[in-house]
Amino acid sequence: MKEDYYDILGISKSASESEIKKAYRKLAIKYHPDKNPGDKNAEEKFKKAAEAYEVLGNSEKRSKYDQFGHSAFDGAGGFGAGGMNMDDIFSQFGDIFGGAFSGFGGFGGSGQRTIKGSNLRIRVKLDLKEIVLGCEKKIKVKRKIKAPGVTYKSCPSCNGTGQVMRVTNTILGRMQSSSTCPTCSGSGQVVSNRPPNTDSNGLLFSDETVLVKIPSGVEEGMQLKVSGKGNDSPGSGVPGDLIVLIQENEHPNLKREGNNLHYDLYISISDAVLGVSKEIETVTGNVRIKLESGIQSGKILRLRGKGISSVNSYSAGDLLVHVNVWTPKILNKEQKLFFESMKDNDNFTPSPEKGDKSFFEKVKDMFS
Ligand SMILES: [Zn+2]
Repeated sequence: MKEDYYDILGISKSASESEIKKAYRKLAIKYHPDKNPGDKNAEEKFKKAAEAYEVLGNSEKRSKYDQFGHSAFDGAGGFGAGGMNMDDIFSQFGDIFGGAFSGFGGFGGSGQRTIKGSNLRIRVKLDLKEIVLGCEKKIKVKRKIKAPGVTYKSCPSCNGTGQVMRVTNTILGRMQSSSTCPTCSGSGQVVSNRPPNTDSNGLLFSDETVLVKIPSGVEEGMQLKVSGKGNDSPGSGVPGDLIVLIQENEHPNLKREGNNLHYDLYISISDAVLGVSKEIETVTGNVRIKLESGIQSGKILRLRGKGISSVNSYSAGDLLVHVNVWTPKILNKEQKLFFESMKDNDNFTPSPEKGDKSFFEKVKDMFS
């Protein structure tokens, strides 16, 4: 049984918007991971409070929850317990704690903003087979990491708060404003001992190999995020992420269209007339298909499930085999005589039946 969101925040069902905000703010400060390092219980409570606030703090979601309870958020569009990650939770903080307190920390005077290292971006080229089956790629990256022996100290310009206050006298009185400390870029820390051959933040390049799991069904242009494999942040910040941009290598014989694959099969006139069994190349190996005698050029044979499995579901696309009858361009005397003798033969006169759909009807079928 899932805990009631009102109970989690310790408020009544009739709580006002500001009461909900206040209750969440209190819990978020109490159980914040910065204040309870390594305390799984506190982290759990922190996440639960965030989930409860995500719903009750939004009037539309709240009224759904009041009506249907937790089942309002089951399935699509909802999120289960623990469905929120820390990034989601911290993105809530903007509206709870105001712009001055965005991100980690900052509230309750408990510490400076945690700085995240910069992201790294890298392209990875995949063959169709790797896309269909999913794969693991060892990717070489040049990450900036903290140099051995580097130490940091509290920034003297902002006393470690990451923010500098400015007081200006205006006609309306004394105005106090805060901005990111230019000395430490908001991290609250500056290098104390900088080893040689490091940058101004005490970081140096390191060649690393990152194992990236690529799910089946990815597409050109998709981006995968590997958390924490970007550049280190100076001081006590967290490393950035590695963003992997997917690129597709074209397959020589199989053309991708969404999750379907297309294959052009060429057969001779005699094979079309007499019927034939042919090997078709699929991504996972060859399959044999039988073509009925009298098969028409332009016929599309569908091999179900031999396409690409969707990255978001368990369904898989099909392999569509386009039959092309090859008309010979050069004939010897004997062959020429044979075809000439068949010119007016009834069996050689086109008479499409209902089953022999025209090109336009086939295209219509494929999109319906
Ligand atoms: Zn500073």
